[in-house]
Amino acid sequence: MLDTSSRVAFDEDHAMFRETVRKVFDRALLPNLDRFEVESSVDRPFWLACGEAGLLCPTVKEEYGGLGLDFGYNAVVDEELAYAGSSAGITLQSDIVAEYIERYGSKEQREKYLPRMVTGEVITAIAMTEPGAGSDLQGIRTTAKRDGNHYVINGSKTYITNGQLADLVIVVAKTEPDLGAKGTSLILVERGVEGFERGRNLDKIGQHSADTSELFFQDVRVPMTNCLGEENKGFIYLMSQLPQERLSIAIQAHAAAQRAFDEAVAFVKDRRAFGKTVFDFQNTKFTLADLKTQLQIGWAHLDWALQRHVQGKLTTAEASAAKLWHTEMQGRVIDAALQLHGGAGYMNEYMVARLWRDARVTRIFGGTSEIMKEVVSRSI
Ligand SMILES: Cc1cc2nc3c(=O)[nH]c(=O)nc-3n(C[C@H](O)[C@H](O)[C@H](O)COP(=O)(O)OP(=O)(O)OC[C@H]3O[C@@H](n4cnc5c(N)ncnc54)[C@H](O)[C@@H]3O)c2cc1C
Repeated sequence: MLDTSSRVAFDEDHAMFRETVRKVFDRALLPNLDRFEVESSVDRPFWLACGEAGLLCPTVKEEYGGLGLDFGYNAVVDEELAYAGSSAGITLQSDIVAEYIERYGSKEQREKYLPRMVTGEVITAIAMTEPGAGSDLQGIRTTAKRDGNHYVINGSKTYITNGQLADLVIVVAKTEPDLGAKGTSLILVERGVEGFERGRNLDKIGQHSADTSELFFQDVRVPMTNCLGEENKGFIYLMSQLPQERLSIAIQAHAAAQRAFDEAVAFVKDRRAFGKTVFDFQNTKFTLADLKTQLQIGWAHLDWALQRHVQGKLTTAEASAAKLWHTEMQGRVIDAALQLHGGAGYMNEYMVARLWRDARVTRIFGGTSEIMKEVVSRSI
């Protein structure tokens, strides 16, 4: 169990919420963890179980069916999910998409989607990346051209989390291609609209239970009322949501690293070699001491970042630094934890193997480590 006894970012209500999250995961996630990996996706009953218990989109206001809580509650779910060893895309819905719809959506859009996102009946995705543009989002080529009262969308997206399951996708498209970033808009596209097709569920190194897909748009007609917020303001919206997105990834990275450490401690205290436990070797103790130090400092930093974010003060540069440090640390900690397992660590039946392969992508998605350094350096 994730030890939260020395955390300072949470109060008693968060602690009670954490108990609920654990109970739901014990019932609806842990027994299905391996099946979800094999099936390359979590299933809808899992989403509905999370929704029923209030785990989805906790920050959404009560008038839209949510609990109107602070982001600390999202963080609780993020931590428990990552500690459980799951890469389910529920955090993308709660931490990223819900925020876009609540903040920039019209009253109609909020009323239409948020209540069912909270229950898990509507699963969402956000489609920015394209085969030709990832880090350099200004280079996207998907267009949404006006035709009467409609947009006609053409283009393709790739690596989209929840791509197979999504009922609603926020598509980043150029409404005024000549204006570059200033001609970018966010357009809502629902499942089943003619011309909107999903490609295959992509075969990834890790995060097998998070479905990740290509999406294709061929002459997809949607009403202009599907524009989220103001036309041509999409890039500004994307930039302003970065702190929360990056903090969410940092939190999950750290909780996964903690799980790998805890797994390693349990393993080395049990495993024997040369007449003693592996824990008894000084190398093991020093390695674990080093990892424990990084984890302790990391939790303190995350609590600081979380409190700052809840107060609305976390800057993009600070959140980028958090993502950079915590995901790089995750890679180091989990690799060392796997090494302490010896050959067992390379076997998929051990949790540390899954944590290791799932960790690799956190230095890439949500902005690569190199882009994080770019962003941080701009604040110097
Ligand atoms: C599992 C997974 C899930 C994802 N989920 C989503 C999703 O839900 N929605 C979505 O829109 N996208 C998603 N992505 C896409 C992800 O955000 C991009 O892959 C990421 O931003 C990097 O873009 P890219 O793959 O095009 O790499 P590129 O931009 O081509 O980068 C290639 C290399 O060049 C480096 N590089 C690029 N620019 C610079 C620079 N200025 N300075 C130094 N180095 C640079 C990069 O750091 C990297 O090392 C997902 C990706 C994965 C793997």
